[in-house]
Amino acid sequence: AVHAWIALLVVAATCVLGWLLASTLQRRMRLAQLKNDLVATVSHELKTPLASIRLLVDTLLESENGEPRQSSKNNVREYLKLISHENARLTRLIDNFLTFSRLERDKQRFDYQVIDVCEVIQQAAAIFCERWDDECLHVVEGTEALVLGDKDALVTAVVNLLENARKYSDENREIHLTSATLGDQVTIAVRDNGIGMSPGATRHVFDRFYQVDQRVARSEGGCGLGLSIVAAIMQSHGGDAKVKSQPGAGSTFTLYLPKFHGDTAKQAAPVHVV
Ligand code: ADP
Repeated sequence: AVHAWIALLVVAATCVLGWLLASTLQRRMRLAQLKNDLVATVSHELKTPLASIRLLVDTLLESENGEPRQSSKNNVREYLKLISHENARLTRLIDNFLTFSRLERDKQRFDYQVIDVCEVIQQAAAIFCERWDDECLHVVEGTEALVLGDKDALVTAVVNLLENARKYSDENREIHLTSATLGDQVTIAVRDNGIGMSPGATRHVFDRFYQVDQRVARSEGGCGLGLSIVAAIMQSHGGDAKVKSQPGAGSTFTLYLPKFHGDTAKQAAPVHVV
């Protein structure tokens, strides 16, 4: 009987060890695949804005007396505006790549504090309005709603949603940014009147590298990481991100965060799940 027990234990230990090895291997392979995808996407996505900046700068350099040929000072200003636009696009891409790889390597340290989501939406709106000087953004703040969260990370999530609302709408865009309290949760919603998407697409938008229409997304400087970053940030906060959309009628992305109950010790610490 003792021998049978020992044999059983050995078999069980071998199984556990095998399972551990297999899952480590699987994780390694998944990370290697992600790394390959990321390198391919980064090189592809960086090339386009860099090429246009080079072209614009070359044209300015070829100019006579500091002005492009056959053009006026207005054109110089236009060129500089385009360069600044491409530069902003590059910055957004690089920010997303960095946040993504930090989240992937599990090194993103979130700094959880008690914060009012109104501050988050104010800061996100300020960043967005500084980048884009059109007046499409309407902000409606709810009453004070406290959450335990990392302000910078939450602002990043909201800015990503605002950028998408802008990217996937035409020039008659209207974007609404609101915060509210819903039972035990605090919500932040970004609604647009843009191109929207099909129910099939809404199921995948939070997946890494997923793009409904690659041509549209890439022409606007998208790389399919923005929403996966939003989802990862929300998961880390014990919250959630959801979308409701209709093709041609626009989309509403909603972030859900657990309401802060007033005692940091009682509130379960947000978990880091990536
Ligand atoms: P991308 O960098 O391509 O914008 P995201 O992860 O931010 O990547 O979004 C994934 C895809 O979801 C986009 O490529 C786009 O097809 C779709 N999408 C995201 N936001 C919106 C929106 N507000 N309206 C319509 N489609 C959207």
